[in-house]
Amino acid sequence: DCVRESGTVSRFGGDEFVVLVEGLSADAAQASDEVALVTSTIATTLGKPYVLGELSHHSTPSIGIAMFGQQLFTVDELLKHADLAMYQAKADGRNTQRFFNPDMQAAASSRAALEADLRRGLQEEELVLFYQPIVDGNGRLQGAEGLVRWRHPRKGLVSPDEFIPIAEQTGMILPLGQWVLKAACAQLVVWSRSASTRDLFLSVNVSVRQFRQPDFVERVLGALDASGANPERLKIELTESLLMVDVEDVIARMEHLRRYGVGFSLDDFGTGYSSLSYLKRLPIDQLKIDQGFVRHLQTDSNDAAIVRTILALAQSLDLNVVAEGVETTGQLDFLKRHGCRSFQGYLFGRPMPAEMLERALRPVL
Ligand code: C2E
Ligand code: MG
Ligand code: MG
Repeated sequence: DCVRESGTVSRFGGDEFVVLVEGLSADAAQASDEVALVTSTIATTLGKPYVLGELSHHSTPSIGIAMFGQQLFTVDELLKHADLAMYQAKADGRNTQRFFNPDMQAAASSRAALEADLRRGLQEEELVLFYQPIVDGNGRLQGAEGLVRWRHPRKGLVSPDEFIPIAEQTGMILPLGQWVLKAACAQLVVWSRSASTRDLFLSVNVSVRQFRQPDFVERVLGALDASGANPERLKIELTESLLMVDVEDVIARMEHLRRYGVGFSLDDFGTGYSSLSYLKRLPIDQLKIDQGFVRHLQTDSNDAAIVRTILALAQSLDLNVVAEGVETTGQLDFLKRHGCRSFQGYLFGRPMPAEMLERALRPVL
């Protein structure tokens, strides 16, 4: 009903449908408008509620559009274009429509190349764990956060922002995360041998997908056991996004690990959807204030208010707080004044190789 007489509608498989719209204007811009009209009619029609028995159901169709005419494409190419555009629509929040453009193709190709490269890098042991100091109000080292880097043979040191998202999408975060756990445990064992490092804790970032794998708890315990690292020195950093589904299961897993002494920290706090009632029930011992709030602490009164509120909240829930991204003494003073006791940021040190952190601790003779 949504397309004209000349339109062809087909079911492509599963929940995918292809609509071929013909007889559009020869003018490209006008043709696009005509198609957009057809697709929004389709979206509105499909988006109406479906009453099945007692319940009303909703559908949120994502539509990708590939235009063709002057230029010749094979059928496969055209479908690929429509597919890429549809995935873009999904990525942009679903229930929306996107036109294919060549940038999507370029992005998809470079993603695929990066994925293959990362798979290789992981195998060739090109990943390294850096350590960023976490200090108390007097600048004394309390522990460190392990942050992964990729020592790429050609590109040099690659930041996690460039490959963690891809690793998440492709599932490579699982072997990668396991590698990080193993490296962190090995480092804890090294630290346990010296009086100056014995009491340090080490935080590792664990992504949602990694935490949700069925045997996550066993994997952590396995890594601790195999290395002989002290579980009480290990902290796991999780983000609020983990709390979107099945919180009971999340809590059960955390409690299981906690029985062995493993600690938990809520990373980037304040940027996600925090439910305060969950916060009360979560077996965490630490919140990390996101660096986004710390950055403009002294110039943005909203950020300052949020930071003060987080600190007050943490205090009443008996949680320790680490302020992330502390770069200036002004920020540090403000944070201290409002009750913050732990700090991480360039003011105290960037993420660095373990040897550098240890060298800084060695007493000068
Ligand atoms: P994050 O866990 O919130 O880590 C803090 C990030 O802030 C780090 O970036 C750190 O270098 C940066 N940072 C620390 N102090 C300052 C400062 O004073 N100023 C500024 N501008 N930045 C500061 P990095 O190392 O690039 O890591 C980025 C993110 O990548 C991490 O955010 C974390 O979400 C993710 N990531 C890193 N390593 C791992 C890992 O092993 N596993 C997983 N799943 N994610 C990781
Ligand atoms: Mg972190
Ligand atoms: Mg953070």
